[in-house]
Amino acid sequence: MKRAIYPGTFDPFTNGHIDILERACNIFDEIIIAVAINSQKRPMFSADERAEMIRESVSRFPRVAVDTLQAGLLIDYAREKNAVAIIRGLRQVADFEYEFQIALMNRHLCPDITTVFLMPNEKYTYLTSSIIREVASLGGDVSDFVPEPVLKRLKARLGLG
Ligand code: ADP
Repeated sequence: MKRAIYPGTFDPFTNGHIDILERACNIFDEIIIAVAINSQKRPMFSADERAEMIRESVSRFPRVAVDTLQAGLLIDYAREKNAVAIIRGLRQVADFEYEFQIALMNRHLCPDITTVFLMPNEKYTYLTSSIIREVASLGGDVSDFVPEPVLKRLKARLGLG
C-alpha cells in the first residue's frame, strides 16, 4: 500500500490542484491532501474552511483523504502517516529553485520519503490560488478554474450571491 502526502496552502483549491491529484492517484494507492495553516500568507479562508471545500471537491476520489497540518515539520507528518512520497506540482521554472531546496532538505531529514514532482496540463501552467483570489475579489468569473464548492464559497465570502 503506497501512500503519498500532497501538501499545500490551497487558498483556495483550484482545477490545477485537481489535475495534480488525478495524476498522483494513478501512481499511488492512497493520497492525503494536507492543508497547511500558513498564517504568514494571511490566507483568505481558514485551514478548516479550505479543508472542507477540498473534501467536497474530491468526494469522487475514493482513495483521497483531507487533513489539516498542525505546527511542525511536514516530513515528520509524512513519516507518522507511513507515506512513501510527497507530491508537489511544478508549473514553471520559477517554481523549481524553491521546491528543489525543500525537497533536498526533506530528503536529508528523511531519506526514505521521496518528493515527486508532477506537471499539470499546460492549460494550468499559469493558474495560481492568488490570481483566483484577486480576479474573484474584483468580480471576475473564475468558474473555469475552480471546482463548484470553491466557487460557491468564494461568492459567499465576497458577497457576490
Ligand atoms: P504552497 O503554499 O505549498 O505552494 P499552493 O496551494 O500554492 O501551496 O500549492 C500546492 C501545490 O500545488 C504546490 O506543489 C504547487 O506547485 C501545486 N500547484 C499549485 N497550483 C498549481 C497548478 N495550477 N498546476 C499544478 N500544480 C499546482
